[in-house]
Amino acid sequence: MAIILDGKKLREKIFEDLILKVEKMPVKPTLAVILAGDDPSSKIYVNNKRKCAQKLGINSMVFEYPSDVSQSEILKKIDELNDDKNINAILVQLPLPEHIDKFKVIDRILPSKDVDGLTTYNSGKLFSGEEPFVYPCTPKGICLLLDEYKINPAGKHVVVIGRSNLVGKPVAQMMLRRDATVTICHSKTENLAEITKTADILISAVGKNVVGEKNIKLNSVVIDVGIFKDLSGSIRGDVEFDEISNKASYISPVPGGVGPMTIASLMLNTVELYNKQHDL
Ligand code: NAP
Repeated sequence: MAIILDGKKLREKIFEDLILKVEKMPVKPTLAVILAGDDPSSKIYVNNKRKCAQKLGINSMVFEYPSDVSQSEILKKIDELNDDKNINAILVQLPLPEHIDKFKVIDRILPSKDVDGLTTYNSGKLFSGEEPFVYPCTPKGICLLLDEYKINPAGKHVVVIGRSNLVGKPVAQMMLRRDATVTICHSKTENLAEITKTADILISAVGKNVVGEKNIKLNSVVIDVGIFKDLSGSIRGDVEFDEISNKASYISPVPGGVGPMTIASLMLNTVELYNKQHDL
């Protein structure tokens, strides 16, 4: 039976440590979140972020806009937050309404306040092998989870399914930095199973049920990033958990795997940005 990569347990451990660190800070870090539109999942995610920040003693502010908000209004708010010395970290909740250019909006955030590590500056640093201000939250969370279970990707074949800027590309880059041999697959990949079957570590970030028993190698590590609701409304990951739990050596569940690690990384990044802004 595969060992479960327990993101919930690790998140609690990270939070215990962060509570003590934040307690000692004379001024508490502040995270500002911009939420535009009425995507129900985004609202839940933002609410969870707010609750976690509160639990840790981190200040959080949420700026909510209707789905017809203009791009210039969002950019104006980001400029204000950039200029405000009391704001240490800025997050724009994705997806943004269709009429808004997400690249332009994200790039308006000062790199030193870019808590998701998604600006061109921070992703450029990541891709050029330099240090970004912080690493993107979900890829960072995956690395922390692997570290916790002493799974070292160096020399291993890591296959990533998905090539988004949010997860697929940065996690592939972070695995490369950790000396893995990396293959990235996507919707146009032919013979997906032939490739994924060669993975020592398989990271799936799709949002559809794409990984079954036929896709994985015996004793491989399987990280499931995907979250979606199936036809019955239940939360699902990309991976057929029951099918592969006797074949994989480690597996991250959904829920309870990568999700909690993403939020833990967000909180870690908020404190890290505060410390960098104060030369701590
Ligand atoms: P995204 O931007 O929609 O990217 C999905 C990727 O999957 C794309 O690169 C797409 O390929 C690829 N893809 C789609 N169908 C495929 C198929 N049949 N076979 C192989 N690849 C396929 O999504 P994302 O933002 O990266 O998120 C991916 C999933 O992770 C979603 O379910 C999201 O909710 C979840 N997520 C979870 C967390 C967490 O904390 N747990 C954080 C972020 C995201 P193309 O590029 O060719 O279209």
